[in-house]
Amino acid sequence: MRTDARVVVIGGGVVGASVLYHLTRAGWKDVLLIERGELTCGSTWHAAGGMHTVNGDPNVAKLQQYTINLYKELERTTGQSCGMHLTGGIMLAGTRERLDWLKMTKARGRYLGMELELVSVDEAARLFPLMNKRHFVGGLFDPIEGHVDPWGVTQAYAKAAQAAGAEVTRHTRVVDLKARADGSWDVITEAGNVRAEHVVNAAGLWARDVGRMVGLELPVLAMEHQYLITEDLAALKGQKEQIHCIDFEGEIYTRQERGGMLLGTYERAGVPWSPLATPWDFAQSLLPNDLERIAPSLEVAFEHFPALGEVGIKKVVNGPFTFAPDGNPLVGPIRGLRNFWVACGVMAGFSQGGGVGLALSRWMVDGDPGADVWAMDVARYGDWATLAYTNTKVRENYSRRFRIRFPNEELPAARPLRTTPVYERLQAAHAVFGDYCGLEHPLWFAHTAAEAHEDITFHRSNAHAHVFEECHAVHEAAGLIEISNYGKFEVSGAGTEQWLSHVMANRVPKVGRIALTPMLNERGKLIGDFTMCRVGAERVFLICTWAAESYYRRWFERHPPPAGVTVRPCAMEYLGLSVAGPNARALLQCLTRTDLSSAAFPFLSFRAMDVGMIPALVGRISFTGELGYEIWVTSEYQRALYDLLTTAGRAHGLRLFGGRALNTMRIEKSFGNWAREFRPIYGPHEAGLGRFVDFGKGDFIGRAAALEEKESGGALRLVTFSVDAADADAVGDEPIWHEGRVVGWVTSGAYGHRVQRSLALGYIPAALAAATEGFEIEIIGERRRARLESQPLLDPSGSRMRA
Ligand SMILES: Cc1cc2nc3c(=O)[nH]c(=O)nc-3n(C[C@H](O)[C@H](O)[C@H](O)COP(=O)(O)OP(=O)(O)OC[C@H]3O[C@@H](n4cnc5c(N)ncnc54)[C@H](O)[C@@H]3O)c2cc1C
Repeated sequence: MRTDARVVVIGGGVVGASVLYHLTRAGWKDVLLIERGELTCGSTWHAAGGMHTVNGDPNVAKLQQYTINLYKELERTTGQSCGMHLTGGIMLAGTRERLDWLKMTKARGRYLGMELELVSVDEAARLFPLMNKRHFVGGLFDPIEGHVDPWGVTQAYAKAAQAAGAEVTRHTRVVDLKARADGSWDVITEAGNVRAEHVVNAAGLWARDVGRMVGLELPVLAMEHQYLITEDLAALKGQKEQIHCIDFEGEIYTRQERGGMLLGTYERAGVPWSPLATPWDFAQSLLPNDLERIAPSLEVAFEHFPALGEVGIKKVVNGPFTFAPDGNPLVGPIRGLRNFWVACGVMAGFSQGGGVGLALSRWMVDGDPGADVWAMDVARYGDWATLAYTNTKVRENYSRRFRIRFPNEELPAARPLRTTPVYERLQAAHAVFGDYCGLEHPLWFAHTAAEAHEDITFHRSNAHAHVFEECHAVHEAAGLIEISNYGKFEVSGAGTEQWLSHVMANRVPKVGRIALTPMLNERGKLIGDFTMCRVGAERVFLICTWAAESYYRRWFERHPPPAGVTVRPCAMEYLGLSVAGPNARALLQCLTRTDLSSAAFPFLSFRAMDVGMIPALVGRISFTGELGYEIWVTSEYQRALYDLLTTAGRAHGLRLFGGRALNTMRIEKSFGNWAREFRPIYGPHEAGLGRFVDFGKGDFIGRAAALEEKESGGALRLVTFSVDAADADAVGDEPIWHEGRVVGWVTSGAYGHRVQRSLALGYIPAALAAATEGFEIEIIGERRRARLESQPLLDPSGSRMRA
């Protein structure tokens, strides 16, 4: 084995082999893959090899499309068969709700160029004659589905990489990793050491254990998974190969395997495998079968597909494979570790492996994944995703693999985990809570404890009437919302302004003022949106999206502040409450000696002040579009502040409101949100943030690209629509039609209670942004007339917030 390499990839499963191949394709040939056994000896060898393009996240769906399209090219260039069976596949619906879900899936596929086809139950039975029609109401056909040979695919990646100069070493275990001062690594193996500039952890079932070599606890867990293969079926003899089939009600997938059928299930009571550590002597191994465990699913399967119950079982496979808590892969560089990358938690290696390899190789070679990979970025998890949290959430995710996730559905596992001091107060006020990065936050407030439960649905839920009341209270009097669920950083020390000016696109505000700013990457794309609050000459309080805190920290590590400037994450140290509405000033003024008049404390002011006895940082800003204040206090004061505001608020018509009301109010104002309207595939001009980019302040990251975007106008435009909706509003990812053609996609939607219209935000080609008519938005399979609004529907001049 060689003793140095630019990259060492640990793990020769389908993912590691794909990473190796893609690195060579991106131009890095001096790369070495180290595998402890034979290639594929972890999860890969016993996989069912199924592949499909549908994914809840459109950006992951795109990478799945890429993966499937790659196999033909791999076969052509290497001569190695991938064992492709592109049969097509059908997803069957047994209920109206599932049919609605299929309609939404088809609609989402439209702007991804997927040719999904909704079919009647008769048509479904023609395509897949083994089904018993009685149990189904329709289906969705996807021509790009099928299965591959797991061994063949892995070999093909490895062969193609080796032909380009990569090396593969087998039967050699990496036993330790030591960081060198220059950022490179000593990879310590059973067969000697390799010095590598970069290390990729693609260790699949052992990803956790390899992570621990560098002090990292990765949120991955293996689950046992069983499938069986039946004896040959007479009905299949002489027939064309059967298409793949997913039966959501039975929680079953099935496909033809030679003359029989392969049938797998994600059972409700899934069993984690080796929850604490993965044994090193597990290779090319399977686990004991436990047919009892999947017996309820098999019973349904034999009812739904009777021919399968009429033959014997030839083989049962029980093997482990890994999942992250949300079921998406964990990919990218690790904060705090130089040149250490992960590509693990890939639960659908044959749909996703290619896309994961592509994104990671670009990230390593070009410094950017080249696509929007937020949904699989390892940085979406922080320290709160502990071993036990991961265990609970992975089991939940596994058990729900084939269940519908409704847009308003909050999942129950691992809750409550993080709560703020006002949690019990909010609970007593009948809050219905949501979970955000493990933190409980109120979504809306019921009138009684018995009502404090939301029906899950694709349509307007029982929350609608409550959200209406909350929005009107904010619009007409005053509302109070907890806003702790934001990321926060305190930047301080000599050089604060210069550093922020370099990493942020807007000018750092004057002392006592607030400025909104995008953060751009070198390509001028949005990688964050921040509120910069200047507390002092050398102290700035940054407020941002909490889910992205680790992601931002990793970016700040890449663009570190100079000596003397400290960037301190403080999300849970400063907790927040916000009051908004026309009475907000009068309410807050009665609690502070600071003059809050518009002349003394105008819109976008920020100042330390006492509220009652409580030292606070107060900003005059509100996401509701109304006059409003955000009040930040260290956590020990939050409860006292809450009591003070709610008691004083009685005289001002104060009502509690939650995240649902805030969301509809920000859409009425056409305010975007990170991970919805703002993502790394959009430029600031396209996203309507051009006014927050200050080209006159000197250089900053992404300036040249953003200037180019400004001059060209950008390809896309974020716009607001009012929609002729019925009892269901857009929620995100619906296609936008214009004159019979799909031209864009929705990023957020909600019913705007103050303007009494159903609303949607979304991206369309810039050239269409001047049109107002001819648009439609497809909501649950129905194209609804939509009008492009050239300005926010509520208070376009902004006079209410500036009052
Ligand atoms: C029963 C079953 C059915 C499945 N069906 C499908 C399906 O239909 N479709 C689909 O897409 N996916 C399916 N999967 C999931 C699929 O198998 C995984 O997504 C995929 O195999 C993950 O690949 P990987 O490379 O990440 O991990 P692995 O295959 O586990 O590879 C990791 C490799 O790293 C090596 N390694 C670990 N630590 C070290 C070390 N310290 N030094 C050297 N080498 C090391 C291991 O030996 C191993 O070969 C199924 C899985 C199972 C169990």
